[in-house]
Amino acid sequence: MYRRYHLDTNPAPDITAFPNRFRVRVTKHGLASFLIKELIHYRANTKIVANRPCMYGVFSGPVGGFAPRPHLCVGCLRCTTQYPEFVQIYPDPEHRQLGDSYLTPEYAETIHYEAQNGRVPVKGAGFRGPFGGQGWNGMWTDMSEIVRPTRDGIHGREFISTAVDLGPRPPFLAFDEQGAVEGRAPATLSLPLPMLFEVPPSAVLSEKLAKILLTAAQEAQTLLILPLWAIKKFALVGRSIVPLIGAADAVVGRNISFTPSMIELEGWENGVYRQAQREFPGSLICLRLESVSRDDLLQSYGAGMRLFHLATNLHGRGRDGRFVLDLIREAHRVFVDAGCRDEVTLLGSGGIVAAEHVPKAIICGLDAVALDTPLLIALQAQFLGECCDRQSSQFTLPSGLKPEWGVQRIKNLLASWRDQLLEVLGAMGLREVRRLRGEIGRAMFQTDLEREAFSGIEGYGS
Ligand code: SF4
Repeated sequence: MYRRYHLDTNPAPDITAFPNRFRVRVTKHGLASFLIKELIHYRANTKIVANRPCMYGVFSGPVGGFAPRPHLCVGCLRCTTQYPEFVQIYPDPEHRQLGDSYLTPEYAETIHYEAQNGRVPVKGAGFRGPFGGQGWNGMWTDMSEIVRPTRDGIHGREFISTAVDLGPRPPFLAFDEQGAVEGRAPATLSLPLPMLFEVPPSAVLSEKLAKILLTAAQEAQTLLILPLWAIKKFALVGRSIVPLIGAADAVVGRNISFTPSMIELEGWENGVYRQAQREFPGSLICLRLESVSRDDLLQSYGAGMRLFHLATNLHGRGRDGRFVLDLIREAHRVFVDAGCRDEVTLLGSGGIVAAEHVPKAIICGLDAVALDTPLLIALQAQFLGECCDRQSSQFTLPSGLKPEWGVQRIKNLLASWRDQLLEVLGAMGLREVRRLRGEIGRAMFQTDLEREAFSGIEGYGS
């Protein structure tokens, strides 16, 4: 029976204190004399006095500004502009410690909000971020073309599909004289979300974390990639697990006690590939890549590989230092030029730390993304220094991490990102995310626009 895909969201408040964005410093003496003046001016109307000078209630606690409530401060600077002699607003240094140089405190705060309740963050004051920059910030989605009746995926008035298919697809269908499709049906796997879970960084991969991610993946009907040692050590089973097989894990079958939906090979080894095919004929086989080489891609394609995972580091950089956006576009282009793009599936991971990065990555050419650090932030993990490399980066998870809470936080995050994906698809008039793949005409790139505007002008590019 058909059931529309739905992810249950429920409030899952933080289990460790989340730092405020601002610190509010009030000089008690200055405040006392100000309050006396206010009480006289407003004839002891405490309701008015208590709401001034902050309409967000920072000074409306039981003892007013003598014990300000900085968690309510939005940083509008109204108070300090009007009363600089006794109110100062400072960025909270603890807040600035969230994440690292790539997953900035602003991204971390947004992920926290999304994981807490599964809602779409709406600030009500328009986009406050940069209108250009490095990486994903240099790419904008173009939703200005009115090509549709209004589509409303989030509120359910119209259904927009976020399902994607992984695995080999034939270039065309052939029919016999009776009109039946000739040959074997391709073995594809449909996921209701274009989001998988990437291998957690080594330093944080514990039994508890693996089980939280696995349960969340099962409930969201998606996949979790795990190294073989973790599957064996934690005795994990389930079709949602994607074993990651290295060249050293030569005897594949003896190490996996179940039939996974998909197996991922760490690199191209013809022997391991053939062995995995033989031992798991019902599983999709995916090749993990850390860089893009036209020859390697086409050689693997020629050997029968149809599923590729472009895995960059946690900052979205490939082995050659290029950003994931450029690598995705190149890999997509290789298959388009070879005339076989529709036969292969392209997954990608690394550097995808905001909901908007998912549709952007799909527009660049991915079929689906695999999430890494956002899942850790959802679980209130702390980054210890710069976290770029998957093997050596250090994180700490909260000591009171409870499995049910963790699963709900991840489901909330996925639900929020799915709703934001639906917003993008709705605004573009698309009925399904499959049609977004490689739709580069739906995007604008800062470098292209600047070149069009300024090339030929002296000084451009210098
Ligand atoms: S900066 Fe704005 S929100 Fe914060 S305390 Fe002052 S008036 Fe209130």
